[in-house]
Order: sequence, then structure tokens, then C-alpha cells
Amino acid sequence: MSESLSRALSVVIPVYNEELNLPVLFARLYPVLDALGRSYEIIFTNDGSADRSFELLRAQHAARPDVTRVIDFNSNYGQHMAIMAAFENVRGEIIFTLDADLQNPPEEIPKLLAAIDGGHDYVGGYRLNRQDSFFRKYASRLINYVREHTTNIEMTDQGCMLRAYRRPIVAAIVRSGAINTFIPALAYSFAGNPGEVGVKHEERHAGTSNYSFYQLIRLNFDLITGFSLAPLQLFTMFAMGSAAGSFLLVLVLAYRRLFLGAEAEGIFTLFGILFFLLSVAMVGIGLIGEYVGRTYQVVRGRQRFHVREFLESKS
Ligand code: UDP
Ligand code: MG
Repeated sequence: MSESLSRALSVVIPVYNEELNLPVLFARLYPVLDALGRSYEIIFTNDGSADRSFELLRAQHAARPDVTRVIDFNSNYGQHMAIMAAFENVRGEIIFTLDADLQNPPEEIPKLLAAIDGGHDYVGGYRLNRQDSFFRKYASRLINYVREHTTNIEMTDQGCMLRAYRRPIVAAIVRSGAINTFIPALAYSFAGNPGEVGVKHEERHAGTSNYSFYQLIRLNFDLITGFSLAPLQLFTMFAMGSAAGSFLLVLVLAYRRLFLGAEAEGIFTLFGILFFLLSVAMVGIGLIGEYVGRTYQVVRGRQRFHVREFLESKS
């Protein structure tokens, strides 16, 4: 492999309804990459946008066909699948992921590149003074804590998508065939020498976040269930504890029945305990359902996304 190819860069950007951000993104991103003096490509995945994003990407491909490739999904499969599709097609040896809404300033790419050149095979950005809603910041801190204690993934900021990967890490992610996944965590699990750098974070240039409260919950469920069986195990442990407690209660009640005779008092306490245990059982069923549902999706083996069109110059 020639020296220039082994240094080639790929930048991967998922795009969902970003028509207001794309022109500014193009204006800021290409100069940064041109200035690096390395060969590069940018792969945009249009994740089923309902606005003019795809037309803008098509025009950009026409303007810079040498370095621009565009994958067009037939519908919306989510940010992580959009990245996955691009990962399947990267040609560079060092791969970057970036959001299209300019929350991750493209000007920070050289910082990540320096860390990769310094020997890391995976470099995650963490957001210095994060510009997100109060709620998002604290929810994210909570989920960071849960993740830290249920998986062995160590990341300062799991939600930051400004990241760099060496090619073998990306190849491993593609080979894993993961469906409901969280790419930064998956990458971490394959990395031999992960590193982190602080990166600037800006407010969304235009528009609002594509993640609703509900989707954030789904995404974080994917993160925990995808990397750990701890929720199931904790639940089993709790169930064993409460089974032991219930058994003691039965012994006490049997004793009182035999030696003190029939009693009707305390029936509401009993109901209280019963309802509590019932709700615990329901949580358990739901939890098992989460894992079974994900197992089902993997076993079914249906294709994860459908590419309608791929714009690239054949060279
Ligand atoms: N995105 C996507 N598909 C989706 C949702 C988001 O490709 O279903 C892209 C979006 O265009 C952006 C990135 O993923 O480039 C991050 O999305 P967003 O800014 O909405 O998330 P947040 O920054 O609020 O976490
Ligand atoms: Mg954003």
C-alpha cells in the first residue's frame, strides 16, 4: 500500500433533516480537510431525510466528486445505522465520525488526528462545556453512571460523536453485524489503546435535536442491554432476596395461624406486599422482553438498512 493511501482519511457524517446546517458544514469542513494535506473522502449518509438534505448532498457531490460520497437510505434507520452503512464502505485508514449539526466543530478534527498519529487506535472526544439543555446534561450524567457500573466500558462522554478510529476497529465493528448498537461503545470494546481528547461543543447551528425523550430512552436501553447482562442478573438477585423474605413471612404467618388461630387483621399489609411483588414480577418480564426482542432481531437476520442510491465517482 502506498504511503499516501495508508494515511488516507475518511470522514463519516449521518444526516437527518439537516438542510439548514449542511451549507455551513460544507463551508467549514472541506477547508479543514484540504489543509491537512492528506488524501481524504467524506461519506454522508442521508438517513431518510424529509427535507432537502439529499438534494444538497447531491449538489455537493457534483461540486467535489473526488472526495464526496453519498449513501441514500430509503427511510430513517437511525444515526448509528447511518454510520454503520458508511463504515461498510470506507476507504481511508483513519476514520472520523461527526454530527452534521455543527455541534462538533470540524476544526477539532486535527486534534483527534494528532492523537491517532500518536499511537492510539481509537480516540473519543469529550465535550468541553457542553451546550445542551439542562435536562439532557443531567440525564446524560445519570446514564454515564449506570453504564460505568453495568458495563466495563470507560468513556468520559459516551454521547460525543466526534471520534476517530483506525481501520481495524471499524472493520471489527462492521464484522460484528450489530443491530441495536451504540457505535462509540462497540468501538471501545475492540480498541487496544483507546485515548480521549477534549473537544469544543457548540449549540446546534439550526433546527432542533432529532432525539425525542422516548428515543433517548430506547438508545440508552440499547447501550446497556447491548453490552451487559447486569440488569438481568441484578433483577435475579433482587428476586432471590425478595423470595427469601416472602418465605420468612410465610413461616411467621403459619406459626401465628397454628398457635394463635385464624386472624383477619393485617390483610392490607399483605395486599401491599402482594402488589409490590407483582409489580416487581412485571418489571422482570419487561426486562426479559427487552433482551428477547433484541435476540429476535438478531436471529431474524433481516438486512439492517436499505441503500437506495450511492453517489460516488468510480476511481
Ligand atoms: N441523525 C440521523 N438519524 C436520526 C437522528 C439523527 O442520521 O434518526 C443524525 C443527525 O442528522 C445528526 C446526528 O445524527 O448529524 C446527531 O443528531 P442530533 O443532533 O439530532 O442529536 P443530538 O446532538 O441532540 O444528540
Ligand atoms: Mg446534535
